[in-house]
Amino acid sequence: MSQKTKTAEILCVGTELLMGNTVNTNATAIARGLAEAGLNLYHQTVVGDNPQRLREAVELALSRADMVITTGGLGPTYDDLTKETIAGTLGRKLLPHEESQRWVEEYFRRVGRTPCPNNQKQAMMPEGAVVFQNHNGTAPGCAVTGTGRWEGKTAILLPGPPRECEPMFREQVLPYLRRDSGTRLVSRCLYFYGIGESDLAHRLDRLMRESKNPTVAPYCKPGEVMLRLTARVEEGEDPGPILDPVVEEIRREAGEWLYGVNVGNLQTALVHTLLAKGLTVATAESCTGGLVAQRITSVPGASSVFQWGVVTYSCETKRKLLGVSQKTLDSYGAVSPQTAMAMARRARVKSGADIGISVTGNAGPEPSEGKPVGLVYVGLDSENVTLAEELHIQTMEDGGREYIREMAASRALYLALKAAKQRVK
Ligand code: ATP
Repeated sequence: MSQKTKTAEILCVGTELLMGNTVNTNATAIARGLAEAGLNLYHQTVVGDNPQRLREAVELALSRADMVITTGGLGPTYDDLTKETIAGTLGRKLLPHEESQRWVEEYFRRVGRTPCPNNQKQAMMPEGAVVFQNHNGTAPGCAVTGTGRWEGKTAILLPGPPRECEPMFREQVLPYLRRDSGTRLVSRCLYFYGIGESDLAHRLDRLMRESKNPTVAPYCKPGEVMLRLTARVEEGEDPGPILDPVVEEIRREAGEWLYGVNVGNLQTALVHTLLAKGLTVATAESCTGGLVAQRITSVPGASSVFQWGVVTYSCETKRKLLGVSQKTLDSYGAVSPQTAMAMARRARVKSGADIGISVTGNAGPEPSEGKPVGLVYVGLDSENVTLAEELHIQTMEDGGREYIREMAASRALYLALKAAKQRVK
């Protein structure tokens, strides 16, 4: 494809961001959206509510990129200067925008408040701008192109509050950017479990470096890696011939860790596989305190595959509720492969489910019953298999408990997914 990929910069305006009083979630949301849309993003900037420094930042951004996307400073107060400053920089006058005026009035009517004269300021738009309606507040956003020195460059102005900025960006700006490019971007997301980002990147080194269409970008979260393949195609063109060969190549190199395509996460992959096969799962958890069940039930459709889950934190409940034998608990301890297997088996037998999974371990902060922090057993009981896996989850000092619980829950979901994929019903 000959069309050059456009570059964008993000510029967030607000002294509270600069001082660290507000976390810059708008930048994260916009950066993710730009990556999905396949635009190049090389710089993000934060600038306070100061027109001189804002102007400098806009000029710097537009000297390097095709467009700058700003957030904040579109409000009605004296320090909300983004629109005035950028219109001035781009050589555009601010003119009353009738439609925006109507939207502002309509918004105040809906929330039962009276607009103040300052709100009229929000209905002034740079001449020639494409205006984005604000469905969650009063400040419309806009896209404005430059004149003179800034001919061919675009500034996209969005409001600061995330509940106004994010939907406006997703619902109106991304389609605007796609329309503008005359092409369409299609992504396929490949989900990996059990392989680190550097190992995966090493195996796919040539592909990740050289592939331009589709682009291949990794994203990681604890224990997992997602590869996003993004193809740029003409309107109406089938993306299959561009994406399929690359997916196949990745399968050849790293297929054993690939657990799904476009599935979102482990729990969704599990629920969808169970649904497709008409299978059910039950859980018995100790140190994860219901996290596995919580993740399964967060997926729409879970009620058809999950009816039964217990948290048996003490030995007594493992015995009374699940029916794990006193002998197993006395001989091997609560944190042991034998107890994990018994919990998974009892969960399956008691519930009548096809697959039982269990977690028992020490999430810390102190060793208990002589078992070190991070030692976890994940149990699985399915048709002809009963097994327990021993995990040694290493953590930094802070936040280790949550990390251990999350990693253990992921492993349990992964084992259940593997068992579900292998089973025929
Ligand atoms: P308003 O109409 O509410 O004045 P605005 O477009 O002028 O909107 P700001 O005044 O700059 O926006 O910011 C309003 C609030 O939105 C801030 O106090 C902050 O809580 C939040 N906010 C602003 N920028 C960001 C950002 N980049 N990330 C997350 N939150 C932000």
